[in-house]
Amino acid sequence: MNEDGVKIVEALKKRYPQKADMDLGNPEDSLIATIFSARTTDVQVLKMFPSFRKKFPDWKSLVRAKASEIAKSINTIGLYRNKAKSVKALAQRMIRDFDGRVPKTMDELITLPGVGRKTASCVLSVCFHVPSVAVDTHVFRIAHRLGWSDGKTPEKVEQDIKRILPEKSWGDVNRTMVRFGREICIGGKKPKCWMCPVAKWCRFQPKTKEPSGKR
Ligand code: SF4
Repeated sequence: MNEDGVKIVEALKKRYPQKADMDLGNPEDSLIATIFSARTTDVQVLKMFPSFRKKFPDWKSLVRAKASEIAKSINTIGLYRNKAKSVKALAQRMIRDFDGRVPKTMDELITLPGVGRKTASCVLSVCFHVPSVAVDTHVFRIAHRLGWSDGKTPEKVEQDIKRILPEKSWGDVNRTMVRFGREICIGGKKPKCWMCPVAKWCRFQPKTKEPSGKR
């Protein structure tokens, strides 16, 4: 365990106290919304989700629908045709193998259509409070800058983070770092180190300076 790592998570929790964007209050909605959120913005998903759910309120309605009908109702998000096929196949599996209830283990979740390790980790921590680290592009980048991992794959970065942080911190990593990565430790070559709440524990060098005359 790394004491600075715990301090970093605590500082990020203080700055980003909000719940996860894809925490929609129940496992079914959170799972589907997380699948939809791949390669598109959370804002776009949250905007269309209520009308999608009105049309397809349960697994059975998704099984009965044609993939093209589902696609039409989600066509404002990226990769909507593939996601429509995934969510229809997901509904079939949920009814056939899980009695309609979202499973609570990584091993089961990653067998579902459209669900990889990242989505499964999000669902486990958000819906079931199972300690999990979801490594998306933000967590991957920030873990490297902080010096937590030099892993080349999300799986290796996940293992490194789990070694550095105590279990109780795992679920806060993705939730806080997605916002932190959008606002401060942004992608590209110039993170905003001058306004970073965790700069003193970060190994990234050289730290960037505030551009003169603006923030
Ligand atoms: S100091 Fe810079 S590189 Fe390090 S976490 Fe903060 S913004 Fe990211």
